[in-house]
Amino acid sequence: MSQKKDTPEQAEFRQYCRNWLAENRPGPPNFRLPQGAIEVMTEQQREYLAAWQKKCYEAGLIGCDYPKECGGGGHTNFQAIANQELSHADVPYMLNVIGLGMAAPTILNHGTDEQKARFLPRLFSCEDVWCQGFSEPGAGSDLAGVQTSAVRDGDNWIINGHKVWTSLAHFASWMIILCRTSSDDKYKGLTYFIVPIKDAEGVTVRPLIKITGETGFNEVLFEDLVIPDNLRLDDVGKGWTVAMTTLLYERGAAEGAGAGGGMSMDERLSNLIALAKRMKRGGKAAWEDPTIRDSIMKLAVRAEGMRQGGRRAKVEALTDHPMRLPLQGKLLVSELLQDIAAVAMEIEGAHASLYLGDEKAPDEGHWPLAYLNSYGFTIAAGTSEVQKNILGERVLGLPKSK
Ligand SMILES: Cc1cc2nc3c(=O)[nH]c(=O)nc-3n(C[C@H](O)[C@H](O)[C@H](O)COP(=O)(O)OP(=O)(O)OC[C@H]3O[C@@H](n4cnc5c(N)ncnc54)[C@H](O)[C@@H]3O)c2cc1C
Repeated sequence: MSQKKDTPEQAEFRQYCRNWLAENRPGPPNFRLPQGAIEVMTEQQREYLAAWQKKCYEAGLIGCDYPKECGGGGHTNFQAIANQELSHADVPYMLNVIGLGMAAPTILNHGTDEQKARFLPRLFSCEDVWCQGFSEPGAGSDLAGVQTSAVRDGDNWIINGHKVWTSLAHFASWMIILCRTSSDDKYKGLTYFIVPIKDAEGVTVRPLIKITGETGFNEVLFEDLVIPDNLRLDDVGKGWTVAMTTLLYERGAAEGAGAGGGMSMDERLSNLIALAKRMKRGGKAAWEDPTIRDSIMKLAVRAEGMRQGGRRAKVEALTDHPMRLPLQGKLLVSELLQDIAAVAMEIEGAHASLYLGDEKAPDEGHWPLAYLNSYGFTIAAGTSEVQKNILGERVLGLPKSK
């Protein structure tokens, strides 16, 4: 892996991360943590994860590549190393996943110096949780169709509208939001803002229940929310450009943001193999069944292909189109996660009907939950169909879909 290519400074930082994580890995909580940040529901879960993120930030493992003036570490290409080491260390994921992965790089690229200094340090330390208000009941894949309006009123803006599927809004202090400021042009009529969510007059957050039975996302209603103009991000009418920055990071096509932690792909595959060795099929371990071994090998080959694709994307001479590999990331990862969970369901057989809370459920019901959750991954941040359209149009040069 990339360790071999580390500069002396990066190698030193990697060793520092390893040592720090070995000494500071938190003990398992005495309550259940959900599988990912966007399923965090209880105050207990929030507190545990926010404290962990704060500790990582104070140790220099978060915001590594951001300038020091806005609370960052002032380094270059250190975040990817911290993320790799966090993932290998089998430690909890970061709660502020939308803040770190989307809001922070968008603010860095489009915000004023005052906005960067005001928002980024508290975002990194998880004192403020962030959410993303893009999708609406009538605007998902067709993001430019958003209708939530922002109307200028002197030095203020008045926001009215309805956002939906807003992950983490139930804990969030701030939302990055795409609003319509003019109906003259679909794209140039959009402007991007930062809006207060917590206890703000004119904002209602209503949790939604997912197929998993858990909450995690919400609908957010705005009725005459008043915000000052200094919460506008970039120029009036430039919202679509700013939103494209957010989406490049959200879909993993741009590097340098986000945070590691949580389960790596290798760990998921190891857990799948362990499950196959434990579960019985025709009187023997499922692992003995050649069809199961074949399915697992195919998944492992795809995971390795993605890893090698990630390395290849960094070598200009090996890429025929600069965005061919980066733009595939979201599609490939979400579909691989879904297929890993589907093979686990097949291995479990009838046991797959035992869910969380059933003491006889293999792996405490982890796999059926992962299987149900995996459908969300292929929808969130742009559906698989939309990702294929983007690859077809931008990389292969196929005609634009209507
Ligand atoms: C777990 C989860 C978390 C989410 N978190 C957030 C969040 O924090 N903030 C936020 O703003 N949004 C969030 N979303 C919303 C997400 O971005 C949208 O669900 C997604 O963009 C799809 O929009 P839609 O649901 O309106 O579906 P639609 O756009 O109505 O699509 C319906 C179906 O039509 C297909 N389709 C649509 N257009 C095309 C086309 N041109 N070509 C081919 N097929 C097409 C789609 O692939 C899909 O199968 C989240 C969603 C999920 C599942």
